[in-house]
Amino acid sequence: MTQHLNSIPAFDNRHQYAVIEPEVSAVVLDILASGRYIGGPILAEFEQAFATYHHVSTAIGCNSGTDALFLALRGLGIGAGDEVITTPFTFIATSEVVSAVGATPVFVDIDPITYNLDINQVAAAITPQTKAIIPVHLFGQAVDMDALMQLATTHNLSIIEDCAQATGATWGGKKVGSIGHVGCFSFYPTKNLGAFGDGGAITTNDPELAAKIRMIKEHGQRNRYYYEEVGINSRLDAIQAAILKVKLPYLDKWNQQRRAIAQRYQEYLHAVPGIILPQQHPGGESVWNQYTIRVIDGQRDNFRQKLQDQGVNTMVYYPMPLHLQPVYQHLGYQPGQLPVSEQICHEVVSLPMFPELSMEQQDRVISAIKGFSRE
Ligand SMILES: *Cc1c(COP(=O)(O)O)cnc(C)c1O
Repeated sequence: MTQHLNSIPAFDNRHQYAVIEPEVSAVVLDILASGRYIGGPILAEFEQAFATYHHVSTAIGCNSGTDALFLALRGLGIGAGDEVITTPFTFIATSEVVSAVGATPVFVDIDPITYNLDINQVAAAITPQTKAIIPVHLFGQAVDMDALMQLATTHNLSIIEDCAQATGATWGGKKVGSIGHVGCFSFYPTKNLGAFGDGGAITTNDPELAAKIRMIKEHGQRNRYYYEEVGINSRLDAIQAAILKVKLPYLDKWNQQRRAIAQRYQEYLHAVPGIILPQQHPGGESVWNQYTIRVIDGQRDNFRQKLQDQGVNTMVYYPMPLHLQPVYQHLGYQPGQLPVSEQICHEVVSLPMFPELSMEQQDRVISAIKGFSRE
């Protein structure tokens, strides 16, 4: 196969960088000259801006989305003997942190339309050991937070929102990360608000929880060199905070561009046989971190190859559900137990999606897909 010189990547942030480069360069050079690379006023300024954006009282910067989830669990006092309900159709970080604090992840199947946790199946998985639920707003689409918060109130459970793929998404007009007890964000470069390296944040309206999380992320100290609990070191460094503060005001515009691209995929692909398009739940507004379709009849890998041959790169998020992964063998899940997740893992393909995807590029993706379906 000839190598396409202008192949279309699944994700590309170089155009975005070109637009914000003057602002980014200026703040990075300021930090370099300041001599202050950890903490300092810029971190506090970004935390304040991120909290304001979400209409919450506190945002806390940390090293990654994974750390944000870990710190949320530790802050809520979740550990050995506790159970945490989540989805098997997510990135490993979501359940990994449950195991890391000594608790047990309990996987509940997903809804085939939204690919998110099926709230109707959650109640049956609640036991006296259940302490929390981690809904994942997968691919940018919010989980039904009304139903979930009601369940949480009834059963006295904490809700930890995994917002890693959904910065800026809303449910019922509210930003994700402001609805549950605590919100966890990732600034990994491919996320909707991406840093130039690793980064994460935690949002909450609970001042006590915020103080405890700050304590744990600073080695378990509230007062310098006096340690209350075994903590960790998890920081959003000054350069990343400065860059994120530059990028945050652009986020809604970039998410709007993603919505326009999603709408265009919908318009041109809805009648194509053999594929199922993602659907926006009417209760929320997705920020389309991914545009993930399903290719039915066992054609997924063939579909990807045909697109690849025409210079269209795609991704598979995720090829295997977490409950069947080797790492969770000891939990005893069997194939067939969570059938929707298992089937969807064989069908999903994420198409090129980033705010700067041009119409010409998208037209090539669309025509490659139409060409495949005609074969
Ligand atoms: C990216 C991601 C994380 C982890 O974020 P990192 O910053 O990479 O640690 C957690 N959950 C989900 C759903 C993610 O997509």
